Amino acid sequence: MYRWLRFAGLLLVGWCTMTSTHECGHIIGGWLGGATLVEADLLPWHLPHSLYQPDPIPLLTLWSGPILGVVVPLGCALVFRRTWIWFVANFCLLANGSYIATGWLSGDRFLDTPRLLNAGAWPLSILFYCAVTIGFGYFGFRSNCMELLTSIEFFQSTQSIEPRDPNDVSTPSDSA
Ligand SMILES: [Zn+2]
Repeated sequence: MYRWLRFAGLLLVGWCTMTSTHECGHIIGGWLGGATLVEADLLPWHLPHSLYQPDPIPLLTLWSGPILGVVVPLGCALVFRRTWIWFVANFCLLANGSYIATGWLSGDRFLDTPRLLNAGAWPLSILFYCAVTIGFGYFGFRSNCMELLTSIEFFQSTQSIEPRDPNDVSTPSDSA
């Protein structure tokens, strides 16, 4: 029971981290490119969004969301080296990649992917982004999920969990 509550809590942390880092990425990109922010909603339960008018470098504003949305959580995971932070980072990888991929498939003009294509983004760059984030995010998140649901030592440092020595196959009858 406790494991499932912890799992649900971490999913919530993952969702809030993903939406806030992604949207803050757009805001930082827009600010760097000299765009004027007209409207922003960062509340994670509203599907966050931000609008800029004018936006001199829309590709910078648009790419900054999905890029910082994965770079910031991954950077935190690499610095703090905790399994639960890797869980959040891998969730962000998978969620950003899935969002960009479904935006492409749905074609909804308010989503990032059609806006990226309209702004002149190279389709191969979007494909590359989706392949890397979904590929690494899926396998990382799946292994973190299994660890989360089976291990009690989940909140310990990843460095303290030593892999079992594969040569250690000694049995009590070895002395015979
Ligand atoms: Zn976005």
